Amino acid sequence: MDSVVGLAGPLTDALFPPACPACRSDTAQARTLCPDCWAETAFLTGRGCRACGRKVPGLGIRDTSFLCDTCQKYPPAWGRGVAVFAYQGAGRRLILGLKHGDRLDTVPMLAGWMLRAGRVLVDETELILPVPMHWTRRLGRRFNQSAELARALAGAAGAPTHFAANLLRRVRRTGSQDGRDRAARAENIAGAFALPRGSAGRLAGKRVLLVDDVLTTGATLNACARLCRRAEAKAVDILVLALVSFDEAPYLRDP
Ligand SMILES: [Zn+2]
Ligand SMILES: [Zn+2]
Repeated sequence: MDSVVGLAGPLTDALFPPACPACRSDTAQARTLCPDCWAETAFLTGRGCRACGRKVPGLGIRDTSFLCDTCQKYPPAWGRGVAVFAYQGAGRRLILGLKHGDRLDTVPMLAGWMLRAGRVLVDETELILPVPMHWTRRLGRRFNQSAELARALAGAAGAPTHFAANLLRRVRRTGSQDGRDRAARAENIAGAFALPRGSAGRLAGKRVLLVDDVLTTGATLNACARLCRRAEAKAVDILVLALVSFDEAPYLRDP
């Protein structure tokens, strides 16, 4: 059910002749962005908040424990976090294409970016867990984009056995988080995840890396991180593709 990404490769090359995955203009090489989309993708490089990956100009190389104002005010249940790009422009189009356009052909490229950005976290982890999708939603979408990213990430890191799709389960189908403020997002996701029988034993004492496509307020990742902690995971970090800029989502601003 989860293995749709196995299609990425020669077959999808035939289905998708070299075209920019973000704007569909012609490119010389498969699975790379065109120069315009490269320029438009806001990669989050340099030092930033250790929990959400938000970049902070002027931080020195030793500032590895800096927490941004938002993470200080709403401390996340995970330890370290890395985001690859800001949720805007070409990056946003790539995510929408993956989630709603069945663009599984972009998964290897996106997972490669996640590995490059989050190499330290990936190398230290023992379990790579995707944020799970409720089974009824997966029937409609055919795949869980977070699981496909996590699987490809583990493969690209040379640690395919670290990928564990079913240690967390989404037991309640939730409405979309779009348009909800921070409190409503947390309420919407409450009780949505659970540890299936046997999971706690596999998580205990392990360094866990949670993988999702987008980080907004962190309500979803927080719920998953709390479960891992309850199961006595040794450490919980997160790696996401995109970070939503709070400046661009006014409803997320503090009152
Ligand atoms: Zn393009
Ligand atoms: Zn932060």
